[in-house]
Amino acid sequence: MRLSRYFLPVLKENPAEAQIVSHRLMLRAGMIKQQAAGIYSWLPLGYKVLRRVETIVHEEQQRAGHIPLLMPTLQPADLWRESGRYDDYGQEMLRIRDRQDREMLYGPTNEEMITDIFRSHVASYRDLPLTLYHIQWKFRDELRPRFGVMRGREFLMKDGYTFDVDREAAMHAYNRHMVSYLRTYERMGLTAIPMRAASGPIGGDDTHEFLVLAPTGESEVFYDEAVTTLRLGNRQIDYDDRAAVAEICAEFTRLYARTDETHDPALFAAIPETQRKVGRGIEVGQIFYFGTKYSAPMGATITNAAGERVAVHMGSHGIGVSRLLGAIIEASHDDRGIIWPEGVTPFHAAIVNLKPGDAAADAACETIYGLLRERGLEPLYDDRDARAGEKFATMDLIGLPWRITVGPRGLAGGKVELTSRRTGDSEEMSPEAAVARVAEIYAGS
Ligand code: ATP
Ligand code: MG
Repeated sequence: MRLSRYFLPVLKENPAEAQIVSHRLMLRAGMIKQQAAGIYSWLPLGYKVLRRVETIVHEEQQRAGHIPLLMPTLQPADLWRESGRYDDYGQEMLRIRDRQDREMLYGPTNEEMITDIFRSHVASYRDLPLTLYHIQWKFRDELRPRFGVMRGREFLMKDGYTFDVDREAAMHAYNRHMVSYLRTYERMGLTAIPMRAASGPIGGDDTHEFLVLAPTGESEVFYDEAVTTLRLGNRQIDYDDRAAVAEICAEFTRLYARTDETHDPALFAAIPETQRKVGRGIEVGQIFYFGTKYSAPMGATITNAAGERVAVHMGSHGIGVSRLLGAIIEASHDDRGIIWPEGVTPFHAAIVNLKPGDAAADAACETIYGLLRERGLEPLYDDRDARAGEKFATMDLIGLPWRITVGPRGLAGGKVELTSRRTGDSEEMSPEAAVARVAEIYAGS
């Protein structure tokens, strides 16, 4: 993409309404525009990152054997009457009437609807296990929408639903989700710590939230510092191997890590004092096992191996897809702007032409642009006629991890400059070497 032809409405001034850094940077980098309280348009740069985050979520869900589908945003109230939640959900639910005066709602979550799909089509334990998920917009009429996309009213969520014959099988589905979530967050450059959670309106006993540590997080968290060093890395995972998956979950949940809702001061006090940490965290996902809470009242039953009709065991598993953009920025920025992890960056590299109009500089930029694209990478080429300082400031603000700077002086010696956004380190090399280096970095990420 050539910047002269792109739509990147960056703001020079700090927007007054933004209280936290991710909100401020998303507005300044021209990623989002607020349309109403907690409701945003995703401008091209923000939309690109949103799609990249979504793609990682899809890939990791499907790697774990989970099946995508798409349910609507609008739902009939009657389905929610069957579970009893139409009245229980309260004012967070946006209730709508259509022209026939039928009661509808904009879905805050989809347990009822997926249970309805299941009961219509599945009748035997032989069709299990089954995990269906979608990535769809949700609406919750939050009392205090704030912090930009972190607490929106309309937000994008991945919600997956597991169907199993008994509790044991359902706990494997739960564990599979935990591991696939850990891998998902790691690919986005995040450390998200699974913490024992309280269940809230979805219901259920077994539940963990995934928290990204950040001073601006809304949850207070208590943890053993050693938990922050755990990594999945690129170990091979067989998601069908119950014992192996459970072993990974044990590794990641053995150390103390809880939110204020489940905090146990006595257990916490047992951690060596130097390891004991209190901080704040952003909830980027949650997994629940809730048994037959929805399947029993809604008649979602199956025939088990003994020939008995039993309610199916269910769980629901969510990732805050749009909130993740805020969380990634909270975890990765400096005073000049965003620093995208390679896994989610909107463009792989910036090309900055220091002297548009100079034949050698223009030609070198075109060459680099073409070579990067041949390698399957997407560069953002600043071909505008603007001062170098302004170009650098824009690229630093929007946070592309690598920048190739091209100017007549360097080119006289056959060199361009490759700069890391994260470290600020620069190295001079030939245009071809810069392209090869960038391609190599992405091949490994
Ligand atoms: P919270 O406690 O932050 O209100 P929740 O526990 O009600 O969230 P869940 O039902 O667990 O939310 O939804 C799954 C995920 O969706 C959450 O972990 C979070 O990342 C995201 N999410 C929930 N509410 C919002 C919101 N208002 N705006 C953006 N993302 C949200
Ligand atoms: Mg939650």
